[in-house]
Amino acid sequence: MKAAGIIINHEALATDRIYTYGIPEKMNLRIGQKVRIPFGSGNRKLDGFVVALHDDENLAYDMTKMKEIFSADPEVYFEEKDLPLMDEIRKSYMATYLDVIKLMIPRGILQGMKHKMSENLYTITTLAPKHQKSPYMEIYTKVDQHPGKFIKADLVRQGFSMSSVNTLIRHGYMAVLSEKDYRYNVEEYENYEERTLNEEQRTAVETIDKKDGTYLLHGITGSGKTEVFMELIRRGLQRGEDAIVLLPEISLTPQMIERFKGRFGKEITIFHSRLSDGERYDEWHRVRAGKVKIAIGARSALFLPFKNLKMVIVDEEHETTYKSEMSPKYNAKEVARLMMEKNGGRLVLASATPSVESYYQAKEKKLSLVRLTRRATEGELPKMEVVDMREELLSGNRTIFSRVLMKKMEEVLERKEQMILFLNRRGFSTFVSCRSCGYVFKCGNCDISMTYHKDNSLICHQCGARKYLPKTCPSCQSKYIKQFGTGTEKVEEAIRKMFPEAKVMRMDRDTTKHKAAYENMYQNFKNNDCDILIGTQMISKGLDFKDVTLVGILAADLSLNLPDFRSSEKTFQLITQVAGRAGRGDKKGEVVIQTYSPEHFAVEYAKTHDYEGFYEKEILMREALKNPPFTKIFHMVFTSEDEKLLREKVMEIGEHLRNYLKKYDTIILLGPSPCMISKIKNSYRWQIILKGDFSPDSQESIRLFVQNEMKSVYKAIKVSLDINPNSMM
Ligand code: ADP
Ligand code: ZN
Ligand code: ZN
Repeated sequence: MKAAGIIINHEALATDRIYTYGIPEKMNLRIGQKVRIPFGSGNRKLDGFVVALHDDENLAYDMTKMKEIFSADPEVYFEEKDLPLMDEIRKSYMATYLDVIKLMIPRGILQGMKHKMSENLYTITTLAPKHQKSPYMEIYTKVDQHPGKFIKADLVRQGFSMSSVNTLIRHGYMAVLSEKDYRYNVEEYENYEERTLNEEQRTAVETIDKKDGTYLLHGITGSGKTEVFMELIRRGLQRGEDAIVLLPEISLTPQMIERFKGRFGKEITIFHSRLSDGERYDEWHRVRAGKVKIAIGARSALFLPFKNLKMVIVDEEHETTYKSEMSPKYNAKEVARLMMEKNGGRLVLASATPSVESYYQAKEKKLSLVRLTRRATEGELPKMEVVDMREELLSGNRTIFSRVLMKKMEEVLERKEQMILFLNRRGFSTFVSCRSCGYVFKCGNCDISMTYHKDNSLICHQCGARKYLPKTCPSCQSKYIKQFGTGTEKVEEAIRKMFPEAKVMRMDRDTTKHKAAYENMYQNFKNNDCDILIGTQMISKGLDFKDVTLVGILAADLSLNLPDFRSSEKTFQLITQVAGRAGRGDKKGEVVIQTYSPEHFAVEYAKTHDYEGFYEKEILMREALKNPPFTKIFHMVFTSEDEKLLREKVMEIGEHLRNYLKKYDTIILLGPSPCMISKIKNSYRWQIILKGDFSPDSQESIRLFVQNEMKSVYKAIKVSLDINPNSMM
């Protein structure tokens, strides 16, 4: 008897291994098939996936005791050639076997989803004279003109009788064909005409098209990166190659979709988190059947089953959404690189503000840098103005809007142009600062802002340092020390009061819960049915409207003072990206940045559009504080409903781990400390942070060490492990 290695569809650490089952005599099994198997002492029926096939001589143990597979689903969900990649993902991101399989298969498979079938009508031969009369003629003509478009019920709904339809089928004039009905509606889009590439764009295309490898396309906002992507894809298509374009969820805007569908038509699939499970299932199969050559989508589109994938484009590569926050906590950029190195193909990372990590790789010659330095249209980069909010306070202005911004808003309304007001609120913010001099309370060890707690203390959530909040500012002795924060709703309220005539829209998570809401707002703004758009990150990118001439960044400090080593980088990126929304047509754009720290280098370099200057300064800080890209961060979050037990146990683990790590002289341990978000749904949260040069092997041994330490409390305390997380809240 032959045997198969099976991963069981069961969510428990104890079952996270490959089980061996016998293959029944007549069953022809392939890797990647889904099977039913008996499991455990009660022989419960469970699903599993085949990941290995053995001939009996390979197996050391008694085959007669082996349980047999019940049945197999004929569909193959992944191929043998995918296995090395899957295993690499599992090890690199400390995931389970099952988690990785779930990446590769359409959601819905595990719920037993099936194809929806449709019984479509087709014509076969022309009508014989005796049937060339009403209503047969009408029915026949309809079906003949729209082959496969109608089912019987459609014709009945149009007023024909079922018996006349059946007569035509019985005589062999028409036939019913049972076909897969794709749930995704294939809308028609207006053609998006090709542009003649300018010289920079052409050079970029030639460079990337010439040979396989990883590229960083650093192109300023409005430099026409999309056109470069499209030309690269067009050339690939001619060679019979498939391509994937990854976009951050928030820039999967109708505009982007319009452009790609308008250029490539039906050969494309749009694959994002708003699709239903049924739609995902169908799209996955459309790709598998080779009906689709291009996918545009969020991170998960990377795992669509293309046959000849030779290019992955990652737009806005600096965005954090490429790192998954659910297990497997993979980084899509890293996985895409692995894929392209294995398949032989091109990975293009593109951004106006590359991540510090990617730019560092370019400097180190680990990837090739390609630049676009000019806007593709006649326009120039917008004029930037920084307003010092401390001075506003000094002169008695306590509102959210500086006088400069107020004046410019009036002018824009008068000229009947549009503006965007941006509040860069990421997560939540609880830093404390002085309104009078801009001083921010920071940790002396970590150079990140400390977080305010209700008992009037300040905590560093990276290293655990704690101090009491003084009554006056340590820098200028003023009493204006306060928690910082304002919301989009408040901004909207203020705007409506100031400009009752203006048409205002607010775009944030609350107002765009529904699929259609976003689209509506987008259309309204496009049709100039809105003067002022207020929003968060959601509006910071992707939007390309020619009448936006003013962008107001209301509080740059909100992202500047996040307790995160990436806060300067995030701020520089946000300012540059939102600013990029202004002046994209032939009218000049202006940007007003309001801040309490106008002298901060992230603000200063953003003001002069100087990415290189920003990078040079930032990379020095990264090196000094041993942050990525100079190290990796291994983040462990422990959670429990029992606060005391959690604190004591994590302290103990911390101590043991510190000893254990002595054999790796490059790894530093920070904490244990309470997480910035110290409690979620009654669960308390503590963390340990490791910084160092990890290999998949050292990661693995640390993981096993920690899991072993937790054996006695595995029910009371949970741990979640992450490599290079987006944030450590
Ligand atoms: P980016 O993504 O780099 O910010 P886009 O790809 O959105 O910029 O391009 C900005 C604008 O320039 C778009 O309206 C686009 O249609 C236009 N554009 C791009 N390339 C060209 C070109 N070669 N000639 C004319 N217009 C172009
Ligand atoms: Zn002060
Ligand atoms: Zn600290």
